[in-house]
Amino acid sequence: MSDTVHSPWSHLLDQYTAAFLSLNPRHIIDNIPHTATVDGYLRLRLEALGQQKNDWENEWPLARLRYERVNVFARAIDRALAFEPPINLAGLICFAIYITVESTYQRGVALSSVVDLLNRLDHALPRVNYIVPPEAPQLHDQLRSLFHHYASCLVDINKILWSVDPLDTIYEITLTVRCTKDALGHIKERLKAERRELYNPEHNSSQSQSSDGKGWHLDQLDILGRGSFGTVYKAIERTSGQIYALKKIPFGENRESRRRVEAQVQNECKIMRKLPHLHIVNVCLFYEDEECWNIIMDVVAEWNLRDFLDHCCRTNFQETRRLKVMLCWFGCLIDALNFAHRAQVIHNDIKPANILILGDTVYLADFGLSIDSAAMESSRGLEYTPYGTSKYKAPELARGEAPRRRADVFSLGCVFSEMLTVHGGYTLDLFREHRSQREATVPEPFRNTLPAVEAWLSVLRENGNGRAPSVIIDQTLWMIEADPNRRPTAEHVRYELLRSQYRRDLFCNMHE
Ligand SMILES: [Zn+2]
Repeated sequence: MSDTVHSPWSHLLDQYTAAFLSLNPRHIIDNIPHTATVDGYLRLRLEALGQQKNDWENEWPLARLRYERVNVFARAIDRALAFEPPINLAGLICFAIYITVESTYQRGVALSSVVDLLNRLDHALPRVNYIVPPEAPQLHDQLRSLFHHYASCLVDINKILWSVDPLDTIYEITLTVRCTKDALGHIKERLKAERRELYNPEHNSSQSQSSDGKGWHLDQLDILGRGSFGTVYKAIERTSGQIYALKKIPFGENRESRRRVEAQVQNECKIMRKLPHLHIVNVCLFYEDEECWNIIMDVVAEWNLRDFLDHCCRTNFQETRRLKVMLCWFGCLIDALNFAHRAQVIHNDIKPANILILGDTVYLADFGLSIDSAAMESSRGLEYTPYGTSKYKAPELARGEAPRRRADVFSLGCVFSEMLTVHGGYTLDLFREHRSQREATVPEPFRNTLPAVEAWLSVLRENGNGRAPSVIIDQTLWMIEADPNRRPTAEHVRYELLRSQYRRDLFCNMHE
């Protein structure tokens, strides 16, 4: 292993270990349980800490504490540099979070506010859950810079906790977190460029072979769902206790089908790795075993949007809180689509079943059919096969034209019309009846019923309890224009939503 990469990390590790040890009153450090520094046990330790304080009121804020991004980030570096526990970055971060919570208790500062700020800090980190190669000096420079900002913010928070009047503490911590967020934002952009360089599939076709799943000990748990080509399981990684989604795609009967599956999996993974976005499911690793291709993803969804919308209709719209949250999914999804389009990726199968929901957050998933138009132009290696889900398919695709980005805009517009229906308190059955006059056994494609959809959206505008801002109804109407040349781009729709007065409702707070 090269010293140029290794030793600056060791140095950083030493530096922050010393900083945390010297910060806090001795009695706190001495009483920190040994397992608090072992990655994977932190959640349990925090629970125990709450119980020890007899603090039932804060049970919920503590459960809400998020440190996944920093944890996955630290583990990626630990793996790359073969740093073993307990003296590694993941251990250091666990230790730092634990003492921050303990100090918050000791100083009598509002725990829920500190937890909110720690969550903000975690969210400000980019997702670094891909495999970090040990030898990539520029990438490591950016990653060290991220780690430095994150860790020094935790040091500052602890300093503030012990030096500022408890009444002013939250204000001071807010300022610190805000500054760090800005700094991290700048590095994020540079990191993206480094990653693109490094993980560019043109230069790195051996990536999939080298990541053969070694070092990952996954136990399969329940089935989460069935995607376009495989079954998705919930899986737990034994050493870390982290939960992942594991998609298994069988090779198929013969060599021909095996080759096709392989091409599809490679395509999906390469494309998703090109798209590090807040609302796009992230591929951590993919490898083959004896029977299948395995794709490990970081979003373990509770719902897909299709099931969620059906559930809302069936339960008479009792998910009122989430229906309210749903408004921000419009902005988040168009933001994700715009991001993919800017990276020259056409999703090609946008439908509610391919949109995942975890907590209050949506994710665009299932890029199995997507097309990297940049790769197509340069290599002509990928053939275009005209399939995808018929119901949401754009009219020009049904006519046999090759997909362009605006076909995605159409499909997402159809999805939006269903989201608006449920958001407005109407069932999808009612919408379907309104759309298709005849009794159909297969769902009528949207493209054949556009005038009825337009009429329906106007009804929602008048009678949807005024719940959806008209800007989103206007944009949806425009997205489902039959003529692709008259449709807006994802970028345009995003822009219109961003500049509307409902901006805060139409995007989640991560876009601030
Ligand atoms: Zn968002």
